[in-house]
Amino acid sequence: MLYYSTSKQSQKVDFREATIKGQAPDKGLYFPEEIPALEKEFIDNLNSFSKEEIAVKVIAPFVGKSIPADVLERIASETVSFEFPLVKLDEKISALELFHGPTLAFKDVGARFMSRCLGYFVRNNNKPITVLVATSGDTGGAVANGFYDVEGVNVVILYPSGKVSSVQELQLTTLGKNITAIEVDGNFDDCQQMVKNAFADHNLNEQVFLTSANSINVARWLPQQFYYFYALQQWNDKLNAPVISVPSGNFGNICAGILANVSGLPVKHFIAACNANDVVPNFMQTGEYVSKPAVATLSNAMDVGHPSNFIRVLEIFKHEFPQVKNAITSVSITDEETKAALLNVYLNDQYLLDPHGAVAYAALNNYLLQNPTEKGILLETAHPIKFYDVVEPVIGQQIEIPEAIKGVMKQSKVSIKMEANYEFLKDYLLSKSPVTA
Ligand SMILES: *Cc1c(COP(=O)(O)O)cnc(C)c1O
Repeated sequence: MLYYSTSKQSQKVDFREATIKGQAPDKGLYFPEEIPALEKEFIDNLNSFSKEEIAVKVIAPFVGKSIPADVLERIASETVSFEFPLVKLDEKISALELFHGPTLAFKDVGARFMSRCLGYFVRNNNKPITVLVATSGDTGGAVANGFYDVEGVNVVILYPSGKVSSVQELQLTTLGKNITAIEVDGNFDDCQQMVKNAFADHNLNEQVFLTSANSINVARWLPQQFYYFYALQQWNDKLNAPVISVPSGNFGNICAGILANVSGLPVKHFIAACNANDVVPNFMQTGEYVSKPAVATLSNAMDVGHPSNFIRVLEIFKHEFPQVKNAITSVSITDEETKAALLNVYLNDQYLLDPHGAVAYAALNNYLLQNPTEKGILLETAHPIKFYDVVEPVIGQQIEIPEAIKGVMKQSKVSIKMEANYEFLKDYLLSKSPVTA
């Protein structure tokens, strides 16, 4: 499998190269040259495959010859070594829980898969590789955890100061070793811009071997397809495919779902559920893409003003606007609606959503009121404890801290404070990497 750049000015590369580079040199995103068609036999019998087998089957065509079959099997099964249960909330709505990984958010899957692929690709390198990543909240912890102690890989994480939850902050600032957290005085888009500048800086790249672990990286983006297969594996109504509502920020997750759908997985319709950051909902109304500065909301991991992966959604549909509109509905949900959904589901269904899942729930619920014959699934992308500061006041109760994160909550954060200015980041990266000939 080869990948081309969405900007069409760079050479095609294989999976290995696309993973190591992150972004194409022309600043486009890598996109697979063809979308595999999965056999009907496989799709109709998902029940008879384990989650490890599904992962390998789905990802193998994208990896091609870059990783030998036995290594890929190991990587895939380590990636999905926890549960992905589909929980019924009421007659019409179920939640696919994607928070049973080590950092309690869905980004664990992509981060674990990518870190293992990269570890394999650099296993014989003599120069360490630096993974540079901007986070709006959950990426940081997932990447830090996925790459912790991976030999030959250093990780530098930029996060917006004061704009991530306290659990998220601890998850990315307390590991140490090969993980460094930079606390930027700005918002997520500032962090993302600093990272983009670093990748575009030839002078820096001659001295530091850099790669990205943001969802633009194909090794993080593509394994997210697994969720949709696990959802359908547990979906009992074989005659009616579900509508799937995805809480969306940078649009990597939903784009992976659409890819799975184009490969043959039955999904009736996608809902891209956004918070007040409504660039895509506006696009769906007008056909014009106008990015704007991110605004802070209760669902902070989706506070993105320029969703990087949306270009890939357009690419899947060959930039045909009517096709995009046909496959996806995108709506913007306010913080008030988010809180109302959280409380209603808690009281009526005895189920506690996190704010991101609540955005997806509200969007799905509205859609089903308009389309009463459909049923749907929302992706519950994080455990509510990650956002206890938002959730507890809404339900008027404390939530129990899961065993998995008791440890991290006792630690103290270590970060490097930085202004939102690329030159400071450059100086830092250069100071960390001795110049070699
Ligand atoms: C990152 C994140 C999202 C948004 O996912 P994208 O792939 O960026 O659209 C939604 N919910 C949670 C909890 C997240 O961490």
